[in-house]
Amino acid sequence: MKCKRCRKATAAVELRSHNAAFCPDCFFIFFRRQVEEGIRKQRLFSRDDRILVCVSGGKDSLVLWDELLEMGYDAEGLYIGLGIPGYSDRSKEKVIAFAEARGKKAIIVDLRDEGVPIPEAARANKKHECSVCGAIKRHFFNRVAAEGNFTVVATGHNLDDESGRLLGNVLHWQKSHIARQHPLLAAAGEGLVRKVKPLWRLSEQETASYAFLKGIDFVIEECPMSEQATSLIFKEALSIIEERMPGSRMAFYTGFLDPGNPVREAMAKAAAESGEFEPAIKDDGSPAGTHLCDRCGAPTLAQTCGYCRMKAKTVERAAQDAAKSATGARAASGKEPA
Ligand code: SF4
Ligand SMILES: [Zn+2]
Ligand SMILES: [Zn+2]
Repeated sequence: MKCKRCRKATAAVELRSHNAAFCPDCFFIFFRRQVEEGIRKQRLFSRDDRILVCVSGGKDSLVLWDELLEMGYDAEGLYIGLGIPGYSDRSKEKVIAFAEARGKKAIIVDLRDEGVPIPEAARANKKHECSVCGAIKRHFFNRVAAEGNFTVVATGHNLDDESGRLLGNVLHWQKSHIARQHPLLAAAGEGLVRKVKPLWRLSEQETASYAFLKGIDFVIEECPMSEQATSLIFKEALSIIEERMPGSRMAFYTGFLDPGNPVREAMAKAAAESGEFEPAIKDDGSPAGTHLCDRCGAPTLAQTCGYCRMKAKTVERAAQDAAKSATGARAASGKEPA
């Protein structure tokens, strides 16, 4: 099949949702245009911004960092090691190699060094791994951005991720989640940074094709915790619809973002009335998080922020476990009864 753009070279990527097929060069042009349009349409950032790209070692975030660098943006990578045995070490290696090949050095935060590796933090706080992971990562996005004078934090979420999340939110009528879902989350005050998703117009197939054609070496395995993530079910459901009706995914998500669609506003109003939703900005325009955490100084609605409370429990549990195993070891060596 010939490329539908240049009509000369052989097509390497067929995109049914766009009724198109591209050779590698034309695919990169298509990809660039989608990223540019995603940034422009939602006013994600400008050339003056300093961008912190959150890289996991997976394809989407590395593709995003690669493309932003190619586009000439001031973009640095942040890797947060989750402390998941095996997976975290392999993904870190990929990030370091990717950065070095581009003359960059990724900013690395290791949650084991911070005392909050995800498996232990989840156990100590009696929560699902993904729930503590989200909160801890958000804390470091804001902290590293503030320390490094970054004006925006970018993540590699693609169209499949965002439309799947929207379907899940709609299916359960999660009003506050629907109200907040957007490729741009404005900074809601001191110490909180703007968050953007520049790949929101690109599908998983498109980011995978970019990584493949560019020879980007990424960690292929998914985070082991993602197997339990319900978000995968919604993505799969949309894949079935997309297969039968190409373009549905994009229509679903862009229709949601359309300024003429009153759903988001209505959901925010309903959630606020039910007390479910604390708007990031109060009616008087001041940020909702006006306190500063008494331990780390991060903005929070409580006296101590969620991260510091989680960390305290994790550290306490680790100390208890260490004391128990020391007692067990002494008992086993016959020095004292267990
Ligand atoms: S799957 Fe869950 S634990 Fe793994 S990176 Fe995603 S949010 Fe974190
Ligand atoms: Zn072509
Ligand atoms: Zn804190």
